[in-house]
Amino acid sequence: MLSFAVQKTDLDGRARRGTLTTAHGAIETPAFMPVGSLGAVKGIDPDDLQAMGYGLILNNAYHLYLRPGHEVVAELGGLHAFTAWPGAILTDSGGFQVFSLAKLRTVTDDGVTFQSHIDGSLHHITPERATEIQEALGADIIMTFDECVALPSSREKVLEALFRTSRWARRCQDARRRSDQVLFGIVQGGHDADLRVQAARDIVAMGFDGYAVGGLSVGEEKATMYRMLDVTVPELPAGSPRYLMGVGMPEDLVEGAARGIDLFDCVVPSRHGRTGWLFTSFGRVLIKNARYAREEGPIDPDCSCPVCARYSRAYLHHLFLVKEMLGARLNTIHNLYYYAALMQRMRAAIEGGSFAAFRREFHAKRAGQSQATQEERLHIYGEDGTVAGADRGPASAVSVEERL
Ligand SMILES: [Zn+2]
Repeated sequence: MLSFAVQKTDLDGRARRGTLTTAHGAIETPAFMPVGSLGAVKGIDPDDLQAMGYGLILNNAYHLYLRPGHEVVAELGGLHAFTAWPGAILTDSGGFQVFSLAKLRTVTDDGVTFQSHIDGSLHHITPERATEIQEALGADIIMTFDECVALPSSREKVLEALFRTSRWARRCQDARRRSDQVLFGIVQGGHDADLRVQAARDIVAMGFDGYAVGGLSVGEEKATMYRMLDVTVPELPAGSPRYLMGVGMPEDLVEGAARGIDLFDCVVPSRHGRTGWLFTSFGRVLIKNARYAREEGPIDPDCSCPVCARYSRAYLHHLFLVKEMLGARLNTIHNLYYYAALMQRMRAAIEGGSFAAFRREFHAKRAGQSQATQEERLHIYGEDGTVAGADRGPASAVSVEERL
């Protein structure tokens, strides 16, 4: 069903090179999962994803429960058949979306009652219901239903959510009916190191097929996120896959892998692609910028993606300005290719015992762009500095559809 093997480690055993074997193929780790919240990575089809080397993607239980409905997906043969994706799938339980997107939430020990962000209809999700929904969707890997507190919160609130998340994790285990899926537990605990350690010990004691670190990259300083990983990851069993949820930017993937994370997901490459933010080996290119209007070269001369092989910055700039859908698609392909290539380079570096040098060089190449300009900040951050549309960030003025 699922097996995980670590073949090689680097950085004194912290960074890992492994293989996650599922019923829908083997995934080399550290790996990045493109996000298809509503059952599709926007504008990108399964052939595109496979050509880029992706074997595992994320779909979202909350969104698919609301539309088209998990029963509809089950009737049509489950997510693999419905979406025609032959690779492996992980579904997020919906915990995060209930807490970040839904309106008028009421949390009790039983579960969460909330209003749909689409039509305001009332829904009640319990750990049992979240498990039932994910079993109907039929992903290879499913997640426990967790409570994500808005941060910063009081220690009492974080602790309460931590205990509830642990109780809910147990109920998710007990609610399972299918034996052909694997269930990952989620470690919460806010930004308090001791609470993270406690949460990790609680979840590990219950025994899951894999372990996720949730509730990070929600607007905190990067140093805080890395510190939380430093204390959490050593608590997780060495033989199980570790998944950092909803993270992140390229530098977060490098720093996460350096700390022993095996799996990542984030909408950043696809969403940023649609807004013309392109990732390159030397930092970002904002393709709407007038300076690209006459540039014949590719986005990144060091990139071997099909977009860089064929199209100029000038053409992509033009497509962006005229809002041509091809522009969004090509930008997304480049970004997802960049992410796939980055993971491949990390895996090779760990294998070769040269991850420390890789990490130094990665950061050095991008050092000139460490400070985002005001224009760029507004590009993805709201006027008030909150992350506009970060998947796992606070709700913002950006529509939900734009944020997926
Ligand atoms: Zn490219």
